Amino acid sequence: MSQTAVQAPGGDVSVPFLERAEHGHFIDGQIVLTSAGRTFDARNPSNGDLLARVAQGDEADIDRAVAAARAAFEGPWSEWTPYQRQALLYRLHDAIDRNWEELARIEALDMGQPISRTRMGKAASLRMILFFAAQAANIAGETLQNGMPGDVTTMTLKAPVGVIGGIIPWNGPLGSQWWILGAVLATGCTAVLKPAEEASLSVLRVAELLHETGVPAGVINVVAGPGRVVGSHLAAHPDVDRIAFTGSTETGRKIIEASKGTIKKLQLELGGKSPDIIFADADLDKAVPGATMGVFANSGQICFAGTRVFVQRPIVEEFCKRVAEFVQTLKIGDSLDEEAVLGPLISQKQLDQVMDYIKVGREEGARLVTGGERIGGDLSDGFFVAPTVFADVRNDMRIAQEEIFGPVMSIIPFDTVEEAIALGNDIEYGLGGAVWSRDISTALKVVKGIHTGTMWVNCYGLIDPLVGFGGTKLSGYGAKGGKAHLDTYLYTKCVYING
Ligand code: NAD
Repeated sequence: MSQTAVQAPGGDVSVPFLERAEHGHFIDGQIVLTSAGRTFDARNPSNGDLLARVAQGDEADIDRAVAAARAAFEGPWSEWTPYQRQALLYRLHDAIDRNWEELARIEALDMGQPISRTRMGKAASLRMILFFAAQAANIAGETLQNGMPGDVTTMTLKAPVGVIGGIIPWNGPLGSQWWILGAVLATGCTAVLKPAEEASLSVLRVAELLHETGVPAGVINVVAGPGRVVGSHLAAHPDVDRIAFTGSTETGRKIIEASKGTIKKLQLELGGKSPDIIFADADLDKAVPGATMGVFANSGQICFAGTRVFVQRPIVEEFCKRVAEFVQTLKIGDSLDEEAVLGPLISQKQLDQVMDYIKVGREEGARLVTGGERIGGDLSDGFFVAPTVFADVRNDMRIAQEEIFGPVMSIIPFDTVEEAIALGNDIEYGLGGAVWSRDISTALKVVKGIHTGTMWVNCYGLIDPLVGFGGTKLSGYGAKGGKAHLDTYLYTKCVYING
């Protein structure tokens, strides 16, 4: 077996892309290797094995990629008609569709999400591409009345903002990169993407596929490497017009700081600690799996995970019991195990962080219902933590207030709808949230009362680009999806014509 072939419970799986000795950046339509030795290791979080060596970028690589993106923005790409960009997006839709199995395997191996889940991500990514293809042909300004004397005609035009710096987290880059790629290609912008070191491979592979499918050289570039070097240089770069960032609130603050010199436009999708509110009249057959997967999907490494589960007091014990039973049905395993529903955490660092919080939860006096330990046995070389449920949590405990980004649910009791809303809002984040109730007026009261960018009723985590998704408070600003999304890749030009 070669170094990069993977031994999985279902047999050896070969992924040709991973057979390369080194993965370069993707700049100006070419794979760009760095000088010898400047690489970092991509490891498989299921077992710690070396998966690939990836070029470790520096400031010069960013400069080169930004120059390529600028040249492309000002070159023939700027002459493409909306229909040409739309047709390109349709071709990309088909190319991504055809190549999804390879991409799903790369993502599973690089970030640890089980293959059954990375396969399921295909529908969402394809929907996003279709959404942006439709948007490409729907960019419009307005003709406006004016109060000026004489024969003056006034209107607005929409124009692409220019070079976009896209900074991407590790918790699902295969899908999440499309929020940037789609908008860039629909509007005629260009981009330099900076994936997270922990999971760069699917972004690098997609860039190649885009180029093979007809995206002109320089339109989409990718530079891998550490955030504090390449990410911060991109955020401060004088020739980058806008930053689209998804990541932690802490890094978001650094991006604001780095971008202030050049007054960049920013989109910041940041951390979360979302409330999931279960009323006693909820259909528990739906609420138990819904709220449980709202926390444990992707092993809790989801920004909008509903980790603060507020349960109305009469059903707290029944809810705890049923969640503990449901958790036992979730198979945890190697990311290439076809049966696995939950995989490992991304890294040793993430594992340590999650285990620290579990210790904190115990010390704070929360009651451990299930989980609480690292998984050993066959999975002891990977970063696996058992889905962990704490009950008797108070909203002021650290496990209820701080983003753990791992498989830890905090169950907090409440009595009235007003109390649930007050507790739900008593947090610095405002990303997602949900309410489970058979009473629509109760549900709507919560939807209106909770200060978050997205709310779900009797479901969790549904996202459609036509509708969108966004945050408020410390969870950032700038919608993903909907008409507002594309608008932030365009600027408005007011035109006065003196006839
Ligand atoms: P992170 O902030 O550490 O890293 C995100 C990206 O920023 C990475 O590419 C990283 O290399 C880069 N980066 C790090 N330091 C930088 C700097 N100084 N300047 C520029 N770039 C820098 O976050 P993470 O650990 O990769 O992801 C987890 C976080 O992301 C969680 O807080 C999660 O809630 C959040 N997240 C939010 C959303 C959302 O849509 N709101 C989606 C996914 C993840």
